[in-house]
Formats: sequence, structure tokens, C-alpha cells
Amino acid sequence: MAELSCDVLVVGGGNAALTAALAAREQGAAVVVLERAPVEERGGNSRFTAGAMRVVYNGLDDLVKLMPDLTDEEKRTSDFGVYTSDQYFDDLARVTQDRANPDMAELLITRSFDTLLWLRGKGIRFMPMYGRQAFKVDGKMKFWGGLTVEAYGGGPGLIEMLHKSAEKNGVQVLYGARAQALVADESGVRGVRVRQGRRSFDVAAKAVVLACGGFESNAEWRTRYLGPGWDLAKVRGTRFNTGDGIRMALEIGAMPYGNWSGCHAVAWDRNAPEFGDLAVGDNFQKHSYPFGLMINAKGERFVDEGADFRNYTYAKYGRAILEQPGQFCWQVFDSKVVHLLRDEYRIRQVTKAKADTLEELASKLEGVDGAAFLKTIAAYNRAVRQEIPFNPAVKDGRRADGLPVPRANWANTLDKPPYEAYAVTCGLTFTFGGLKIDNDGRVIDTEGEPIRGLYAAGELVGGLFYFNYPGGTGLMSGSVFGKIAGTSAGKAAAVTA
Ligand SMILES: Cc1cc2nc3c(=O)[nH]c(=O)nc-3n(C[C@H](O)[C@H](O)[C@H](O)COP(=O)(O)OP(=O)(O)OC[C@H]3O[C@@H](n4cnc5c(N)ncnc54)[C@H](O)[C@@H]3O)c2cc1C
Repeated sequence: MAELSCDVLVVGGGNAALTAALAAREQGAAVVVLERAPVEERGGNSRFTAGAMRVVYNGLDDLVKLMPDLTDEEKRTSDFGVYTSDQYFDDLARVTQDRANPDMAELLITRSFDTLLWLRGKGIRFMPMYGRQAFKVDGKMKFWGGLTVEAYGGGPGLIEMLHKSAEKNGVQVLYGARAQALVADESGVRGVRVRQGRRSFDVAAKAVVLACGGFESNAEWRTRYLGPGWDLAKVRGTRFNTGDGIRMALEIGAMPYGNWSGCHAVAWDRNAPEFGDLAVGDNFQKHSYPFGLMINAKGERFVDEGADFRNYTYAKYGRAILEQPGQFCWQVFDSKVVHLLRDEYRIRQVTKAKADTLEELASKLEGVDGAAFLKTIAAYNRAVRQEIPFNPAVKDGRRADGLPVPRANWANTLDKPPYEAYAVTCGLTFTFGGLKIDNDGRVIDTEGEPIRGLYAAGELVGGLFYFNYPGGTGLMSGSVFGKIAGTSAGKAAAVTA
């Protein structure tokens, strides 16, 4: 016998889950949310984020609708540009090598703006991402890389606002409540088996939405699906996303879908803890490499640090770092660019070396062949096309020619002391493989049919991201597909009432 019952049961307590809960509530459903984490650690990976959201906007008027708090001064001194749906499609297609599922891409992109506007109506506030996505050019803050909007208060703010809204709308949240299995029979899903503390019990539901993250925090699955060596990666966010939702759905016949060997992984402090630390948030990341060089243990470069805006390279360079000897590298900068380094370089918990000469720096780069490092820098300095002007806000084409590893933009010689270097390893953000859904957020089985009563959203849905990822799309897809899944589940529950 079920101990508890509701119309829509949402598994997970991050952005996708809470958005789904709000959408289901809007359909009049009685909604219960199961959050595996205790209340102090609630919010999943979403809470660890900067709250950046990639959304279509066709000009200032759209941004004003999303952010009515924009001041006249901000409007006057900012160059927000536009981010059209065509640009979004191009960016997603380019970085996923044309593999993103076209239906999902279309839903994500065409509903991005309306979904944020709807969230705004639910009390979620947004602001321009001045700190990380804009540089001052000719007296104006110029936004770059298609990423302009963030949730007020970043990830922690987003989770706080979503919870406030859920509470206000009458959503019930159970903490420390881990979904273990779906309760299903031939007519579909009827609820979830839950473990809370030492107790196990069933929650009956007319519809279940799975939104409980990928398998990034499961070292065994990482090694099995991402490949050897991934057990050694650090996890950037929550320790609770161990693939439970994917496993539970596969157990009742759901279809595995998407890039199961792929993931989002970045440059992350070499001495960061095994899982994310909520007090540090995303600040272990080191994302200013387009203005410097990344050097491995052999003293060599191994990627084009300036291949594209960091929003389109950072999510795949974690894998490149994991593949280096010892799974680390040093990011090296000279004083010409140090002022451009993001805030995350100035935190206390950083693995850093500083020196007044390149020779001294070489001796301080732990684990690196110093002689080879000096040779690499000398060759690089000779190759920089210094006559091309440097401009961090556009792809400036300031390249370095004739090197074994090319360099396309933002190339600067390394010759102005003091020098700074930061040791990084691979930080895994989330996994790309998961479940298949249809346009209504219904989970599809291995026969290609929807599983009655089962919906999904967020990280555990496959098909959108392959190889790489455009920054700010994780939250946006969680919101868009969370709203779709919650709305569908709420409607289905009303029909079966
Ligand atoms: C450090 C960091 C920075 C990031 N920055 C950004 C950014 O700025 N912009 C962006 O778009 N994306 C960013 N991302 C990616 C983004 O966090 C994810 O894509 C997005 O938050 C996923 O949302 P979700 O709701 O699917 O999963 P999560 O937010 O991870 O939520 C999953 C939830 O499920 C719960 N759970 C797990 N298992 C169970 C179970 N068995 N039963 C019940 N509950 C369970 C977890 O406790 C958690 O509450 C970042 C990620 C990290 C780690």
C-alpha cells in the first residue's frame, strides 16, 4: 500500500524538477517533489551554477521584458546586441557537430524566451551577466558569446527563488528522500519506491516526472560509459546525481538515447575536492585560458586555447586535460592579460605559481618539463602575429602561425612579468547520455512508444548535447523541458482523475 499519494510526483530537486513542479501545479495537480539531498544540500547541480541562461532575444525590448529592473544607465552603457534563434541553432549545431536532435533543438530554442518570461511570472528574477560575459569596449559594456542573462543571485539564488515559488504554490517537498524504483504495471507508471532514512515506502502518483540528473557522480558508470580514466575526474557539482533516474527508467523498458560516452567537463582546480563545495560554487573552474596558454607535463601545448569564445570550447577541454599525462596542465598568463582573468582566479583555494622570469616560472610549474616549457614559449612568442590588434570581445583573428598546435585568436606573447600560472585538472559537470523523450516530455520505450505516466527533463534526457555544449544551455533546457514535462504530466493526471 502506498503511504502517500499525489497527482504528479517529481523526482529531483534542481532547476528542471522545480520548474516541472510549478508547471504541473499550474494544471491544478497536487504535486510532491522527492529530493534525495538533505535540505542544506538541496538544489542539485543547478545550485552550483552561475545561473547563466542562453536565451533568444531580438533586442533591448526583449531584455527589458525579462529584466524590468534594468536602469536607464545600464541601457545607455551596455551593448547587449541580439541573440537570434538562427544564431542559437547555428551555435548548437556547430558545437554538437550537427548531432543535436532537431525536434529538441527547436523546442529548446523557440521556447527559451517564453519559458523565462513564464518563470519571471512565477517570481524568478534575472539580470545581465556583466561580470563574466561582457568587456568594456569604447566606453560600453559589450556582451559576447550569446550569453547575456543570469538568474538573480546565480545558482543559489535560482534555487532559492524556485523553492519560494514552489512553496507559495503549494508544492510539497520531501528531503533526504531517494527514489529507488518506479512502481509500474502493464498500464504504466503508478508511483515510486522511496527510501528516506531507514524507511522504504511507496508514493502513488498518476504521473511521474524524472528530473534527477545524470550519472556524473557515479565513478563506476563514468568508467563504464565515458571510458577508462573518467573515474579519476573531479565532480564539479552535487554528489547525489548517480544515474538513479536513468537506471529506474531503463529497468522498465525505457530507451537509452544520446551521447552516452560524452559529457561536459572543464578546467578545474587541480586540488579541488572530489565533489563540488557549495561554499566555493563554480569558482574552482578556470575559464580564462583563451588569453593565455595551457601547458602539459611534457611542457607542450595540446589545444588551441583561442579556437572560439570560451563558451564554445570550455565544455570539451576538460576531456582534453584528462587525456594529458597525470591528468593536469598549467594555465600560464603574463601581466598584459592578468586584468582580464575572471574572478575565479582570485579565490583563496587556488593552485597558483607566480614568478618574475620565465625561467623561475619553469622551476615552479610542478610536474612540468621546464626546459621543454621554455622552448614552447619561445616558439610561441615568435609565432604571434602582433600586428593584428587584440580584442577580447570579438574573435579578433590575432593568431600564431606555424605551430604544431594552432592558435586562432587572442594570441599574446608571454614576455611581460610577473607571470602567473594555475594548475588545473578535469572537472566533470554532467553527462550527456540518458533517456529519450518526445515533444510532450514523455519517456519513450525501446519499442518507440511512450511509457504511460512517465515524463522526464533536465540532465537525464539524452539527445541534445554531443561532444560539446554551448554555455548556459543546461539550465535553459532544464527550464524548457521541465515546463513541458510538468505541463504534460499535470494534464495527464487531470484526465486520469
Ligand atoms: C559548477 C557548475 C556550474 C554550472 N554552470 C552552469 C551555468 O551557469 N549555466 C547553465 O546553464 N548550466 C550550468 N551548469 C550545468 C547545470 O548545472 C545543469 O545542466 C543543470 O543544473 C541540470 O539541472 P537538473 O535539474 O537536470 O539537475 P540537478 O540540478 O543536478 O538536479 C538533480 C536533482 O536530483 C536529485 N536526485 C538525484 N538522485 C535522486 C533520487 N534517486 N531521488 C530523488 N532525488 C534525486 C539531486 O539531489 C538534485 O536535487 C553548471 C554545472 C555545474 C556543476
